[in-house]
Amino acid sequence: MKLYNTLTRTRDEFVTHEPGKCRMYTCGPTVYHFAHIGNLRTYIMEDVLEKYLRYTGLDVTRCMNITDVGHLTSDADTGEDKMLKGARREHKTVMEIARFYTDAFFADCEKLNIKIPEIVVPATSYIDHFIEMVTVLLDKGYAYLSGGNVYFDTSKLDNYYVFGNQEAEDLAVGVREGVEEDEAKRNKTDFVLWFTKSKFEDQELKWDSPWGVGYPGWHIECSAISLWNLGEYLDLHCGGVDNAFPHHTNEIAQSEAYLGHPWCSHWFHVLHLNTASGKMSKSSGEFLTVSLLEEKGYDPLVYRFFCLGSHYRKSLVFSWEGMDSAKTAYAKLVSRIAALNPDDAAPIDEAVMNEQKTRFAAAMDNDLNTALALTALYDVLKAKTNDRTKLALLSDFDSVLSLFLLDAAAKVRAQNKAAEAAKSAGAGAGTSELTVVCLAPDADDALKAEIEGLIRERADAKKAKNFARADEIRDSLAARGISLKDGKGVVEWSKA
Ligand code: AMP
Ligand code: ZN
Repeated sequence: MKLYNTLTRTRDEFVTHEPGKCRMYTCGPTVYHFAHIGNLRTYIMEDVLEKYLRYTGLDVTRCMNITDVGHLTSDADTGEDKMLKGARREHKTVMEIARFYTDAFFADCEKLNIKIPEIVVPATSYIDHFIEMVTVLLDKGYAYLSGGNVYFDTSKLDNYYVFGNQEAEDLAVGVREGVEEDEAKRNKTDFVLWFTKSKFEDQELKWDSPWGVGYPGWHIECSAISLWNLGEYLDLHCGGVDNAFPHHTNEIAQSEAYLGHPWCSHWFHVLHLNTASGKMSKSSGEFLTVSLLEEKGYDPLVYRFFCLGSHYRKSLVFSWEGMDSAKTAYAKLVSRIAALNPDDAAPIDEAVMNEQKTRFAAAMDNDLNTALALTALYDVLKAKTNDRTKLALLSDFDSVLSLFLLDAAAKVRAQNKAAEAAKSAGAGAGTSELTVVCLAPDADDALKAEIEGLIRERADAKKAKNFARADEIRDSLAARGISLKDGKGVVEWSKA
């Protein structure tokens, strides 16, 4: 597979240190607010990459941190502590904020069909390892104490700007803004490994260390969490493009100084999701979340489909028109799949199977070209072969793309069947014209009958303009974890 590597600035053949195994690290969320859909673009693309690497047969071990301490509003160690900012905003403790937004992040991932890495480490659970690593860096002469903090000395490295074809001055300022001068630093690019001289009187989370009570810098957390969980040779490190500098640059500096040899061979960076007015960011407070998309009537998987339609190394501009097009295209794709016969027992057409799989792999091997991989789905639908082969191929590709295509198609088939049954039963007057579809596979007949009765009563109430009763029925069902989705002449119900 050819994959762009920020380190070499070329599309390298992706090769792992140990054949057959891939050690992959992902910078996780800073849990002081909801993840916005820009952050989630990055996680969607990383998820597809992980799934594709597994698809090619690699045994992937993936680790991700949760930043619940140490990340300041400027990535260059200045500004305010983000977690503290969140806690103050919501009048909660930092740990309450961390727990709430970590859970919210996982819930968003589930809705977007993003697999959670098997190793997830909150930074606050790794303080001893950070201290151990900083101690070694001090012993080796790569770090110094100044003004109460421990700093990494970037002048000790031959090449600090590992990703750099940018001007050193630009890099020193960083992609994110809000940088102030820190007088205690020997060099402008030095960064904090451990803070003791906290500027924040009310810093909630502090730990004992050989250098006084304090807390870790942001960059050290990813180096230590990665080293302790994935070992000395990392194959793949991922993040959004804003992470490249200073975060990943500093991770490389301290990890390689600690290890004494090269650390990670491949760096994968996803370009930003922007709005018409600029980059979507949590700190600006104006951002879109998965819940907001749902409120506006978009299935989160439509957002996944929207993201897969663009290459990860191009900035993506979000627009509601773009989402509407994605919604229509996704629905059309699903309905074409629904038209295939799931009971087709014809033998698998091996020649078509191989040909189409080669096409899909060629797209993904071409620097993770997900837009082309989506085209491969349409090629399958057009192929001259039986439905069984087509469904097997679609299922195979969707194990990587994760658009729930076959489940969504089965749902459409069930709806169509129910609508047809109602029609052929020669539905009579009143709400019997309404088709009620149960999407709760574990519901027994008694429950089905009860819910159907209430749904019909609600439809009658609406017809009689008794909206209070109609709302009351919907709310009472919602309180029982039952949600309703109204369609034209159809109401679907499901259980949370
Ligand atoms: P954070 O929670 O701010 O630490 O960011 C989580 C991930 O989202 C990191 O990998 C960031 O690089 C990435 N990220 C931040 N903003 C955007 C954006 N607008 N579009 C895509 N990825 C982003
Ligand atoms: Zn990181």
